[in-house]
Amino acid sequence: MAARNIGSVNSPHQSSGEPLLVVTNLVQEFSVPKRGSLRNATVSAVADVSFVVDRGETLAIVGETGSGKTSLARTLLGAPPPKKGGITIDGHDVTKRNRATRKAQSRLVQMIFQDPSSALDPTWSVQRIVSEPLQKLGLSRQERDDRVADTLRRVGLNPERHSRRRPSELSGGQQQRVAIARALVGRPALTVLDEPVTALDAATQSQVVELLAELKNEFGLTYLLIAHDLAVVQQLADRVATMYLGKICEEASVATLFSTPAHPYTAALLSAIPSFTPDERPRLRLLGEPPSPIDPPTGCRFRTRCAFAQEVCATVEPRLREVAPGQNVACHFPLGADGTPSTTVPAPESLGTVA
Ligand code: SF4
Repeated sequence: MAARNIGSVNSPHQSSGEPLLVVTNLVQEFSVPKRGSLRNATVSAVADVSFVVDRGETLAIVGETGSGKTSLARTLLGAPPPKKGGITIDGHDVTKRNRATRKAQSRLVQMIFQDPSSALDPTWSVQRIVSEPLQKLGLSRQERDDRVADTLRRVGLNPERHSRRRPSELSGGQQQRVAIARALVGRPALTVLDEPVTALDAATQSQVVELLAELKNEFGLTYLLIAHDLAVVQQLADRVATMYLGKICEEASVATLFSTPAHPYTAALLSAIPSFTPDERPRLRLLGEPPSPIDPPTGCRFRTRCAFAQEVCATVEPRLREVAPGQNVACHFPLGADGTPSTTVPAPESLGTVA
């Protein structure tokens, strides 16, 4: 986790209260070779995940490498489609892989990737890269050119100077601006930002975060932000969901999650950054090593790394439940405002599946 402060671009909460992305009981699994066996093993990358993102809102998904956040993002784009569960974007069921869905998909969701140099075709000009998503919209050549020039200007590039260049003739920050222009030129309903500034230097990161915030406010965009950098999350997101081994373990507004995290995993992530943990709250450490996603722990998946694990945590999976207005936590012994477990007996509402 990075601890830098890259400047404040916080904006008022823009959520409309109108669901745009609805994810229901989503499951994504992958087959991987199993050491010492001819059979493949199954990795449960996304395990029964449900959440909603309102129109105009930014939801950040945070977690360590291997938490399932990138698998979740790619599943939303249909690459690959989910094993089980539902995804609707702007009322369209995008799990249906028919022609109509594939055609609508690029207008429903676009993704901005971590590394623009590998996401942009090196042989194409900026003009061709940015105009490509417009090909299927039935616009005239002039309309497409005008839309591309407007969008390039809006992301801080000069159409006259930059549109004929190839990606290799641009800086990293300019390349990411081209990637943002390409993602937004078709006005998608949802934009997935996959670690959008991780590959950039610190000064450029700050500019790109500011640009993303401005574009969101100006066009009422809806973002799903995949990030491990909590400074970026704090500046761009309205709400945050923490993921661990394919499960959402906490979900709350940015203000609540950063001030009073109730799940020990969220508290441990924040504890790694001294400025994010008030002096009066104890700093939590992650115990041991991350378990294998091929064979996750029984009961609570976080129990092998949790300082507060008790017997019940090994046998009963905790359910996601509301512990404060808008704050949902999957833990039998959620943390109170002082950062210690607020209860010594599991609440009946937390008792989910028995292992
Ligand atoms: Fe820790 Fe138990 Fe809560 Fe899991 S359910 S986070 S092991 S206290």
